Amino acid sequence: MEKKNLLTYKPSGKIGFMTFPLFAVMLGLGVVLSIIYRIGMNLLPWIVLNLFLTLALGAALGYLAKFAIRFGKSRNVGLSIALTGIVALGVVLLTHVVKVLFSLAVDHTLTEAFSLLGSQFFYGIAAFAERGFSIARANVHITGFWVYLIWAIELLLVVGIAILLSYEQSESPFCESCGQWCKEEHKVFSGIQLTDASSLVDKGDIDAIFNLPNVGEAEQEEVTMTCHYCARCANTAFLSIKGTLYEGHDSDGEPKKNERALLEHAVMTVAQKEKCLSRIKETTSV
Ligand SMILES: [Zn+2]
Repeated sequence: MEKKNLLTYKPSGKIGFMTFPLFAVMLGLGVVLSIIYRIGMNLLPWIVLNLFLTLALGAALGYLAKFAIRFGKSRNVGLSIALTGIVALGVVLLTHVVKVLFSLAVDHTLTEAFSLLGSQFFYGIAAFAERGFSIARANVHITGFWVYLIWAIELLLVVGIAILLSYEQSESPFCESCGQWCKEEHKVFSGIQLTDASSLVDKGDIDAIFNLPNVGEAEQEEVTMTCHYCARCANTAFLSIKGTLYEGHDSDGEPKKNERALLEHAVMTVAQKEKCLSRIKETTSV
């Protein structure tokens, strides 16, 4: 979200020299994960647990990518996403290689299985699809197209989750003059009126937002103020404002949460940063 009269943080597109080595490390750990994943899949023949494992693999790769982006200091969002996607795709393909390898190893030694892998891979995959698998609970046996469809969903889930998780890190503010990521402080205000905050954001009046009074407990709305600032220098600081509205109830009777980013990473002056941090750290109850 960008307001006409407010400057916002833009990732510089630069990368640190450790970005590529750290993604290579991620791929290396991905090889180990793909073996663990396949063993887990073989041990747990229940589809719900399989789905859980798939989500866990995506999350594990997402956190590894976050790590690579953070310590590799990649401020290039496109490159971060591309590398995350490529590594995640590679790991999912590896899980299929491991699957064929395991099946070859039943009748051969591991060395033989490795040497057969090149010529037997596609044959092995086709054989798996042909044989298919049973979803015991639902009492169905799926083969062919449906097996490939499930593999495609598995691939999309793993790659999608990994990219979603890494995106947040690559977009996070970075102080270019100090060469480090910004620290984050935030606070949820349940006493600030959402409409007040939102109209001040539209006017681009950052200072007035910090002076908004807490008018007591408004349970249906919340305003979250987030300050990203450089811990080394005084000049780099950004403000984000998120509005949360609780409207109606979902099927479990829980209030429905409706979140909207009103402002993302707007550049703050030194004075504004001080005001913002003192508002966030104030100890009065909200
Ligand atoms: Zn700095």
